[in-house]
Amino acid sequence: MPGPGSYWLGEEERKEVLDVLESGYLSRYGDMKDPRFKHKVYTLEQEFAKYIGVPHALTTSSGTSALMISVLAMGIKPGDEIIVPAYTFVATYSAIIFARAVPVLCEIDSSLNIDPNDIIKRITSRTKMIMPVHMLGNPSDMDAIMSIAKKHGLSVVEDACQANGAVYKGRKLGSIGQMGGFSLNVYKTITSGDGGLIVASSQELYERAFAIHDQGHKPLRSGLEVGQRSILGLNFRVNELTGAVALAQLRKIDRITSTLREKKNKLKSLISGINGMSFRKLNDSTGECGTLLTVIFDREDRAVKVAKALGTATVNHSGWHVYANMEHVNRYLKEAGQPHDKGAYPKTDDILSRTLNISIGVVDAGLGSACGININSTDEEIGAFAERFRKACAES
Ligand SMILES: *Cc1c(COP(=O)(O)O)cnc(C)c1O
Repeated sequence: MPGPGSYWLGEEERKEVLDVLESGYLSRYGDMKDPRFKHKVYTLEQEFAKYIGVPHALTTSSGTSALMISVLAMGIKPGDEIIVPAYTFVATYSAIIFARAVPVLCEIDSSLNIDPNDIIKRITSRTKMIMPVHMLGNPSDMDAIMSIAKKHGLSVVEDACQANGAVYKGRKLGSIGQMGGFSLNVYKTITSGDGGLIVASSQELYERAFAIHDQGHKPLRSGLEVGQRSILGLNFRVNELTGAVALAQLRKIDRITSTLREKKNKLKSLISGINGMSFRKLNDSTGECGTLLTVIFDREDRAVKVAKALGTATVNHSGWHVYANMEHVNRYLKEAGQPHDKGAYPKTDDILSRTLNISIGVVDAGLGSACGININSTDEEIGAFAERFRKACAES
C-alpha cells in the first residue's frame, strides 16, 4: 500500500460511499432539492476550498488533468514557455505538452525543488508561467518565485500533487499562485484511487477551468448556456463515488499530516549527526507534509552503497521523476529546441545522484522510497529502521 491515505481507508469512506449508492445519484449533477441527492463532489469542493483558503475548488479526473486544465484556464497559448523543475513526476511535463505549451526545465537546489536563481536564467520573451512543483511534500521557495513572477509579469500555477496539506509561511500550498493542482492517486497524502483537485484564486479562472473540465458549461451547469458557451471543453469530471471517498479522506488530512510529521521527526532525530550526510533544505521548517525523509550524502559512491545495503536506489534512478529517464518527454523537448539529454541539468543530476528518499508515508519504489517506515509504524519499528540505516552508513 503506497500512500498514507490508503493506509487509513476505513469506516468513514465506507459510510460516504454507501450514502451515494443508496441515493441512486452517481453523477456529480443531481436535483439539489431532492434530499436523497447527497452531492458529495460539490461538498468536497466547498470543503477543500475552505481547507486550502481559496475562493474556489474543482474536482477533476486526475492530478494530470488538474494541471492541464489549469494551464489552459490561465490562457496559455501554443508555444508559450512554462518554467518547471528538472526533477518532477512525468505528468508535470505531459500536462504542459498536451496544453501545447513548452516545458522549460530548470535546475533544482538542495530542497529538491526548483532553484529560483536558475529560473531567472531561463526566462525568454516567450515565458508566460512558472510551475513550481512541491516535491515530496516540501514547499518550494514561494517568496522568491512569486517575486520573480511579479517582476517579469509571469503567472504561477503550483503543482501541489505531492503536497496536499503542506503549508508555506502560514499559507496552504496551492493557494499562493493563481491556481494550484492536486492529485488523489494512491501515492498521495489523501486518495480516492484516482482523481484530482484544482484551486483557483478568482471566479473567472474557476469558470474557465470548470468549462474546460465539462464540455464548456458554466459552473454546476447552471444558467442559460446554449448559444453562450465561449469555451470548448472535454470531460474530466468525477462521479459521486470518487467524491464520497475523497470527502472522507479530506476530513482526515490534518490527522494524517500531523501523524506523518511526528513520525518523521522521530526518525530524523534518530539518524541525525551522521558524518557526510545531511537532510534536504526545508523552505518551511514545520510546514511540509512529512511524507518522506530525504537525505543527501556528500559523495555519490557512499550514497550508492548505503542505498544498496537498504535494498533501494539513489533518486537519479527513479525513472518516472528524472528528466534524463523520460524518453517520451525528451522527444518533445528536442523538437522544441530545449536541452534534454542526460547531463543537460548538471546541478540536478549531481544532487539526485547523492540523494536517498526514505519513506515516512509514501512507500513507492518509483519515487526511490522503497525503504523506510509508514504512517502506522510503531516507535519500535522506527527505532529498528534507524538502526538499519545507521549500520548501512557506518559500513559504507
Ligand atoms: C502524482 C503527480 C501528478 C499527477 O497526478 P495523477 O493524479 O497521477 O494524474 C502530477 N505532478 C506530480 C508532481 C505528481 O507527483
